[in-house]
Amino acid sequence: MTSTTTTIGDPVHPASRPEGHQFINGRRSEGRGPEAKRIDPATGEAAEVIRLASAADVDAAVAAAKAAFPAWSRATPAERGDALLKLAAVLERRAGELAAVESAQTGKSLRLATEFDVPGTIDNTVFFAGAARNLQGLGAGEYGAGGTSMVRREPIGVIGSIAPWNYPLQMAAWKILPAIAAGNTIVLKPSELTPGTALIFAEAAAEAGIPDGVINIVTGTGPDAGERLVRHPDVAMTSFTGSTAVGRKIMAMAAETAKRVHLELGGKAPFVVFDDADVEAAAHGAVAAAIINGGQDCTAATRAYIQRPLFEAFTARVAELMDAVVVGDPADPDTDLGSLITHAHRDKVAGFVERARAAGASVLAGGTAPGGDLAAGAYYRPTLVAGAAQDSELVQQEIFGPVLAALPFETDDEAIALANDTPFGLAASAWTRDLDRSLRASAEIQAGCVWVNDHIPIVSELPHGGYKASGFGKDMSQYSLDEYTNVKHVMLGRDRAAHKDWQDTVFR
Ligand code: NAD
Repeated sequence: MTSTTTTIGDPVHPASRPEGHQFINGRRSEGRGPEAKRIDPATGEAAEVIRLASAADVDAAVAAAKAAFPAWSRATPAERGDALLKLAAVLERRAGELAAVESAQTGKSLRLATEFDVPGTIDNTVFFAGAARNLQGLGAGEYGAGGTSMVRREPIGVIGSIAPWNYPLQMAAWKILPAIAAGNTIVLKPSELTPGTALIFAEAAAEAGIPDGVINIVTGTGPDAGERLVRHPDVAMTSFTGSTAVGRKIMAMAAETAKRVHLELGGKAPFVVFDDADVEAAAHGAVAAAIINGGQDCTAATRAYIQRPLFEAFTARVAELMDAVVVGDPADPDTDLGSLITHAHRDKVAGFVERARAAGASVLAGGTAPGGDLAAGAYYRPTLVAGAAQDSELVQQEIFGPVLAALPFETDDEAIALANDTPFGLAASAWTRDLDRSLRASAEIQAGCVWVNDHIPIVSELPHGGYKASGFGKDMSQYSLDEYTNVKHVMLGRDRAAHKDWQDTVFR
């Protein structure tokens, strides 16, 4: 996790005042679809009315991206890299505003938005400015007789991206940056619950000189704007981050136009504590990784498997630490855990815990919504549940709340088998001081990322993406550029005699 802090309380940039929730061809505009009321998750009060995108708005955004593609795809890597560096500078200047909007729309603590989401996004922007200049094909080589070959890496065209509400700014950046660094243009549909920071990001890009139409934002619902974007014949690729259920639908829809898909889906990360682990470090790590972003993090620790001798000590310490977590107003600097995204989502999280309790599990910490001043918000306490069965919904399904299940194991073989025993495979961690155990766990756990003695950190240089039902394709890192480019082989024939040779095998 990045620890740089940014100033909060910058004046609101005039362009980010709500003048419409669409950003099409370099301008903010109102959608032509239905109205939706956005509710402040921390208070339950109406925050703003959004005019959603209609199918015509999506079409206009795709047309703008298509028109911008020829010039942007022909810009030199240095020109694209310079534009991204300028964008990073504008984001840095607007960091306080970005953090405030991110926290207000999601309910996450302002501290997390300020110290994690915003600096992470700025670092990503700087990384992709460099990556744009390091996108190489293969040089010339003599591979076939009488021919000289080269491999070109080419942008794909208009990318249609769909993002979730949990990290609205980072998810927008993870989709937009590699796509445009590689010379594509993009239409991004953020979640209709949290469009604010994606819109500011697009405005910042315009201010940095990124041409009109290269980045477009359409704020609409999944069934309306999202499906239109996936099915659109002028969209060459769909890049999606969200739930596995919606990812499956998107894959099926994309098949209709045979477009490339990139899917970052749900997770159910195991957190494996071997009997030689540092219990204090593991307990702290477990609480931080279970409650980060209200547990609404696809890599959050959700299933702690603890080797039997440490089970009591570990669960007791985790419960104690969870009880000490400060749940409160997201804007309060002392708040560790703000609200969840909506009241309905909070009730869904609580439902998982209630059903586990009814089935005989013990709730060792939390398991309730705080009352008092927080009663009107979508809050839920950090929760530790022991005694749920491995095949129960609490252990198998993505809850997406600050809920950690604790289960004991006896042998290392059993730990690896349990860690792999869900449909998901996004991230995992192993806690041990033994080199052999850490190497074995990192090799045998089926996940796109395995941390040893930590859980959560991400960096711009390294890939993020899933195995199994967590999807495929990589975000961040140089690997993500593979997702957003086509690879073309060009062969220059130069030896007529050698060509004649193979042609003679066909006809003489
Ligand atoms: P979601 O799947 O409900 O929605 C994601 C996006 O898809 C939203 O913009 C939504 O409007 C849109 N959508 C919904 N139905 C659609 C449809 N029929 N056609 C097109 N678009 C549609 O997910 P969410 O609740 O917003 O986010 C939480 C999920 O995202 C969790 O499952 C989480 O694990 C996942 N996630 C994964 C990663 C990752 O990197 N793997 C990162 C963040 C979040």
